[in-house]
Amino acid sequence: MTIRLRGHHLLCLLGFRGMGYSAAYAANMARVYNRLKDEPDTPVTIVAGPDELCACFPPDEEPHCENASVARLDRDALAKLDLRAGLTLPWSAVIARVRAGVEPEDIGTLCRTCQWRSYGVCEAGVRTIKEGGWLPPLPE
Ligand code: SF4
Repeated sequence: MTIRLRGHHLLCLLGFRGMGYSAAYAANMARVYNRLKDEPDTPVTIVAGPDELCACFPPDEEPHCENASVARLDRDALAKLDLRAGLTLPWSAVIARVRAGVEPEDIGTLCRTCQWRSYGVCEAGVRTIKEGGWLPPLPE
């Protein structure tokens, strides 16, 4: 079954190490991450706006999934990957786009408004992919 993902979440998944806005959010993201890790040919459909990860954003927190600043993260990530909303492609093809078009240092500019950027995990995730690696197992 296709996984629906918005543009910037294609990059967020590379840096996912189990953190998230809530336990439920992180558990849902871990489910998606592990599927992509274990089944590289999983079809991914790129969507505009809230996606399968946003679906578990905590209802008691200030919503941001439809904010213009988040749409901008999507737009910039998709431009960097040479992709657009509406496309469906295997996750392995997304990874090929990362290898071809993204540098670890790009996270600093693509994601300058993101609260998770300072952890450094997303840069490290891109670096792993650029070096020919794959999504690593999540920490226990
Ligand atoms: S810095 Fe934020 S927006 Fe950028 S890939 Fe990481 S979690 Fe996603």
